Amino acid sequence: MIIVNSRHAAHDQPRHVERAARLSAALEALHAAPHASGLAFIEAQPADDASIRAVHADTLLDRVRWSATQAGFWIDHDTYTTAASHDAARCGAGAAIQAVEGIAGSTPQRSFALVRPPGHHATATRSMGFCLFNNVAIAAQHARARLGVGRVAIVDIDVHHGNGTQDIFYQQPDVLFCSIHAAPLYPGTGDDRETGSGPGSGATLNIPVPHGTGDAGAALAFTHLIEPALRRFQPELILVSAGFDGHHRDPLGLLTYSVAGYTAMIGRLCAIADECCGGRIALVLEGGYDLAALAACVVGATHALAGRHDIDDPLGPSGQREPDITPIITRITARHPLFATGTTP
Ligand SMILES: [Zn+2]
Repeated sequence: MIIVNSRHAAHDQPRHVERAARLSAALEALHAAPHASGLAFIEAQPADDASIRAVHADTLLDRVRWSATQAGFWIDHDTYTTAASHDAARCGAGAAIQAVEGIAGSTPQRSFALVRPPGHHATATRSMGFCLFNNVAIAAQHARARLGVGRVAIVDIDVHHGNGTQDIFYQQPDVLFCSIHAAPLYPGTGDDRETGSGPGSGATLNIPVPHGTGDAGAALAFTHLIEPALRRFQPELILVSAGFDGHHRDPLGLLTYSVAGYTAMIGRLCAIADECCGGRIALVLEGGYDLAALAACVVGATHALAGRHDIDDPLGPSGQREPDITPIITRITARHPLFATGTTP
């Protein structure tokens, strides 16, 4: 099930990397894909105030709402709004909620919320990093508060650290936030010593990887960190902050993932969802700023959700030599509470 936020289009700055052409390119590729006829497309509905307030301060919501009175406004030096951004952001959050509703019932349908603006940098109190509302966090909180879901895992595969999602759930024991991201890179958070606090100690897993890390490094991190963490945490559903700016063509990213590599990551998360939580997995789009790479990764992701792994990667591998991330994996397994014998977050 693909939930499409059509209201995104008027939230646009054509010269900005986070522009309406991103989602248009992804949708065009998806509709042209051979399996398009088998995909169910649903229109996003706006999230209500209560859903947004469940993760964001009133001041943040009020500011985004106020921005609709302005023809154009900059929340910070890289986060713009237009008169239509409040509507677009509300429908983005609503799409993520619909995705989670699609997987929370007795007959889950793997879902993908195709949204912009993205969300994972928005903290409880601050819109930032192109993000107005934190779509994936709003969906996770909706699942817990309104759908009776106890334990939610959020896996963030965007090239940037999902500082906002981490911030929102940092003290929550029932939401596992797990991020693999390039470091050093915006926003500068996501050190592996950030592991949660108070009751949430151990429920944050950060995997900062060096520039140039690609498919092999990600696969290693999945095998030794992400999959064991999910098995130990035993979520009732898995949400994925699906950012595709780790692709080797991306102008902002510094990793060298391929379309095939991204598809494999999502395939592995689907397999873990099958194993741990009855196949309940939903993706929420985050970054991805090279239009061809974003479009191909979105198509690849829908293949993975459909259980197909025989994808044709139109852009190929980066061909670059990758750094060895084994020392990072060894360090995290040695000191992260999630991997200490006998402890459960
Ligand atoms: Zn990003």
